[in-house]
Amino acid sequence: MSPQFYRDTPSDIDKVAELLNTGELVAIPTETVYGLAANALNPVAVSKIFSVKQRALTNPLIIHIGKVSQVTEYCEVNDSAIKLAQAFWPGALTLVLPKKSTIPDIVTAGLNSVGIRMPNHPVTLQLLQRLDFPVAAPSANPSKYISPTRANHVAESLGHAIGHILDGGPCSRGIESTIVDLRIEAGPRILRYGPISRQELEAVLDMTILEPIEASSPLEPKTSPGQEHIHYSPHTPMKAVAYRSMDEWGDSETGYILIHPHEPPQGLSGTLYPIAKLPDSKDVAQNLYSILRKADQAGHNQLIIELPPGGSEWDALRDRINRATNT
Ligand code: AMP
Ligand code: MG
Repeated sequence: MSPQFYRDTPSDIDKVAELLNTGELVAIPTETVYGLAANALNPVAVSKIFSVKQRALTNPLIIHIGKVSQVTEYCEVNDSAIKLAQAFWPGALTLVLPKKSTIPDIVTAGLNSVGIRMPNHPVTLQLLQRLDFPVAAPSANPSKYISPTRANHVAESLGHAIGHILDGGPCSRGIESTIVDLRIEAGPRILRYGPISRQELEAVLDMTILEPIEASSPLEPKTSPGQEHIHYSPHTPMKAVAYRSMDEWGDSETGYILIHPHEPPQGLSGTLYPIAKLPDSKDVAQNLYSILRKADQAGHNQLIIELPPGGSEWDALRDRINRATNT
């Protein structure tokens, strides 16, 4: 089976809306990564997401809405949720809130909370505003592989299993949304770093935001299911080294993924993959996954990737690169 591609024309957006309405899966663009979308109110449609991705049923899905006002239909909101939604939606921020019974249990993996966001992508916003239901959409890739940031990435890794891809061009942000848990008494907590920084959230709420808890022990209760240690990962063995201190150079079969172009030591053989022209965290985020895919497909025997420099604007990239390393 090879998938059908749809573009940003009114008739294509209508066709995609109808497919979702009838319980089909469609890969859709967002500003973060491409999502594999299903009608979130249709448990059979949602179950197809888990089987196509081979995703654990214990790993909850984020729901996506096209209007801020829809949030009260599916979750219990509080003051912080209203402030953050007003400041950042549409945008790369997912709020975790107590769920209402309108959302089927399969979406939230049985949790009494739901992750919700309004994505900022022109085509997908038009689509969502045409639907009278939210869509559940995790990243459109096989579970644990590198997330897709172009329509052809979706076709490469899921084209055999899905029939429909809405092509909205390359994703502008390039990494998954920031997730903040707003249910806890102790105050809001980041569950996953992403394009919206902790400082930006703190400035809007005027309070301290707690950092993610690392699940150091298997006995520790997981506040954020699905945050496995290895995720977003290439098939080729990959290790990370400190920024600009590559001391472990490999052989001619090694691929080196660099934050920005810099000179290798004399006599190095191997292939260099600079991610961005300058070490700018936004540019690196936008291009990281497409460079990782390219390096993964080149047949190297190993990949060595640079960890980002220090500083909070690199938190999300440090997190993704650490999780992507697999040796
Ligand atoms: P993705 O696979 O990129 O769509 O990310 C979905 C992730 O959002 C999950 O793996 C969880 O880490 C997080 N998430 C979604 N819903 C919830 C929830 N109700 N509570 C906590 N984390 C959630
Ligand atoms: Mg994912």
